[in-house]
Amino acid sequence: MVEVAVVAGDGIGPEVTAQAVRVLRAAGERFGIEFSFQEALIGGAALDAYGVPITPETLELCRRSRAVLLGAVGGPRWDRVEPERRPEQALFALRRGLGVFANLRPVRVLPPLLEASAVRPEVAAGVDLVIVRELTGGIYFGEPRRREPTGTAPGSVRAIDTLVYTTEEVDRILRVAFELARKRRRSLISVDKANVLESSRLWRERVEMMARVYPEVEVRHMLVDNAALQLVRAPRQFDVLVTENLFGDILSDEAAALAGSLGMLPSASLGGRVGLYEPCHGSAPDIAGQGKANPLGAILSGALLLRHSLGHEEAARAVEEAVEAVLAEGWRTADLAGGSQTRLVGTDEMGALVAEYVQRGKAA
Ligand code: NAD
Repeated sequence: MVEVAVVAGDGIGPEVTAQAVRVLRAAGERFGIEFSFQEALIGGAALDAYGVPITPETLELCRRSRAVLLGAVGGPRWDRVEPERRPEQALFALRRGLGVFANLRPVRVLPPLLEASAVRPEVAAGVDLVIVRELTGGIYFGEPRRREPTGTAPGSVRAIDTLVYTTEEVDRILRVAFELARKRRRSLISVDKANVLESSRLWRERVEMMARVYPEVEVRHMLVDNAALQLVRAPRQFDVLVTENLFGDILSDEAAALAGSLGMLPSASLGGRVGLYEPCHGSAPDIAGQGKANPLGAILSGALLLRHSLGHEEAARAVEEAVEAVLAEGWRTADLAGGSQTRLVGTDEMGALVAEYVQRGKAA
């Protein structure tokens, strides 16, 4: 029995997560995987029900499970809540509690969506890359972090954030990236700002050291400003891109534009015993409750769960192929709509189409 904790969250979170569960059930039936899904509240929903964005019981449920499927948290209703009780705090608590330090964001430009890409079709065609972002270190967590008077003039303050990385933190994320590159096209681009930052110089040294352990992987270093340019200019040169927390946060959103819609992108957070899987988008309050959210990012996160937590490559590919096949038949949610061939469907119908394809192994 494979136990999966389902924390669907807020806004469109529950809508898209329901479709991911549906498709996982279909994959389970086809490939003989018995799933048990346990649901719990997280984010604003948990705040309303329990006064906290995640309860210790929910955290424990996630820790005990084989994998966690997350929707999205947050929304305007909770924007005025004090910082320590904000819905996003649940994400930090969950990541910390599960010990996941590596965030993988695959970006593939699927042939049927070539026209939807933010870059020209000839640039976007064939893009198939993974961003490996360090998730628990760097400037988002470094201390000291505070404001203090400068003492030079009344009202003059300075704000301090601290960028820290240890060799252990760098090595463990690099290991994930090298292992992934070894299983893919054996090409790794490490992104840093080594011309300016000491932490980046340490990062680069550790990359060089680890490259000797993986001679089969071709390694290149790229400065982050150039990487931002190359991602839209010549994105096919990337196979696995590894970088620290802040750079990864920014570059992964940029790379998302290649794929056509934020609603298409899955992610996996790994490093502990339990993997955390979620679409890259937020709770999309502007379209919540309308049944028109794109569930494919959540469904593809389910494929990553099959691949990384269960090691079931065949089932993972079956889900990915089903998504591509359904798109090739012209089915689109509103975020992808356009063109005369579009067959517009809602969240539920899109989930049903993919699930049916997965179950039969071919189009209905
Ligand atoms: P968002 O990702 O929710 O939405 C950005 C835009 O993309 C919106 O126009 C939305 O309608 C559209 N969109 C997003 N997902 C879509 C989908 N699956 N199908 C179709 N369209 C989709 O980002 P935002 O508007 O900046 O944030 C909204 C809320 O979500 C905020 O409270 C924010 O804090 C939260 N958020 C949560 C997460 C998370 O839980 N991991 C991530 C980002 C933002």
